[in-house]
Amino acid sequence: MKKLRISQFPILNKCCGVLDALDSDLNINTSSEISNLGTARHAVAAELVRATTVNPENEDIYYGGQVNVSGIASKYGVDVDDLWTTFNITKGIIHNSIGTHDGKDLPPLGNFLNPHTLRTEEEVSMNLENFSITGHPDLYSYNTLDGEAVDDFLIKELLIVDWKFGYKKDPTHYQPQLMGYANAIILDLCSRDYRFSQDPKITGMVIFPNEPKSERYSTFPMNFNGIVTWSNDLLNRIKTWDGKTYEVGDHCTYCPNKPNCPAFLKMSQNALAVISDKQIDIAKDGVEFWQKLGLMENMIKDAKKVIKEHLIAGNEIKDADGNILTLAKPKDKINSAEAIQFLRDKNYPDYKILEHVKINKSGILSIAAEDAKDNKQPIGKAKELALQTLKSANIITPAEFGSVKLIKK
Ligand code: SF4
Repeated sequence: MKKLRISQFPILNKCCGVLDALDSDLNINTSSEISNLGTARHAVAAELVRATTVNPENEDIYYGGQVNVSGIASKYGVDVDDLWTTFNITKGIIHNSIGTHDGKDLPPLGNFLNPHTLRTEEEVSMNLENFSITGHPDLYSYNTLDGEAVDDFLIKELLIVDWKFGYKKDPTHYQPQLMGYANAIILDLCSRDYRFSQDPKITGMVIFPNEPKSERYSTFPMNFNGIVTWSNDLLNRIKTWDGKTYEVGDHCTYCPNKPNCPAFLKMSQNALAVISDKQIDIAKDGVEFWQKLGLMENMIKDAKKVIKEHLIAGNEIKDADGNILTLAKPKDKINSAEAIQFLRDKNYPDYKILEHVKINKSGILSIAAEDAKDNKQPIGKAKELALQTLKSANIITPAEFGSVKLIKK
């Protein structure tokens, strides 16, 4: 029986070649520091949601009284301060989402935080011959449309949430994962005699706690029949994969089979050969070449990350000649606001200080957005207006050339 996780659906949806990794130990690398940190952060979020669900009015939750942050840190061997940061951000999202505060920019979780219907990290599954397919949605809950808990076994609304604590990818990348969870949850609920209304409102939601507030969550409306049809199609593709057809593309970046994949290796070798022979006709083959370079770039980044993790874990990397790889001295971090205040206190003039301060465009626009939010004005319009004003005053001017960008048809 091959073990497959629903969290692998985003890649599987593009290429069944990832099934090769199920036969090796490539995707069972659960001991790295990064994956432990991810698991620990999810555990903190799950405990916080559970505690909030039982009694959202209990102030003790919001001071950490109900979540064993230090216990989770020591269980997974991760930095407790990092987990407290996760706790505080997650707490802000949940607390502000339950309707007691201004939650306009926040995921609408409030109606779903019901102890009778909410599930966190509970296993769901679906059946496929020779495969065991399981997943653990971070959070799901169901409700009637008017926000009351289901008590008549008729579900009109279902919400499925996934926390993403790592680098933010394009949110649509996660849609197959949410569709897979939705299918497994529907199967589970129907096996327990629940029924769905004719056109239930089913929503998938990805929350990115570490992103700026305005980009913190994305939702995907889903259709009941669409979920079932799509899932059956994917399961059929998995079942009938011929074991030799691979689809190389952007998704390879996150594929656990990448180090072992013949198609990815061939693509990398071809791209390298083209670079070294300088035999490329840029006008004709430039798009394809550009995409391959992007994939190789990601592969190199991943490989460098593995080396860095090895060093961070205290291991030595050395060749027979005595050359070594080591960690360079970490860069100093600067608290900009306090640094500026320090320089002002020393009576340095602002024009001198500002020569060394960088402000980026998204920073300025997020100040405009926060101001608009405080004054209950439309955020998009405020950002647009700020941008226009800055451009017409020549405060923001275009660089001579932009970077290379791929526009897909
Ligand atoms: S590396 Fe790319 S082509 Fe190879 S199995 Fe993974 S997704 Fe498929």
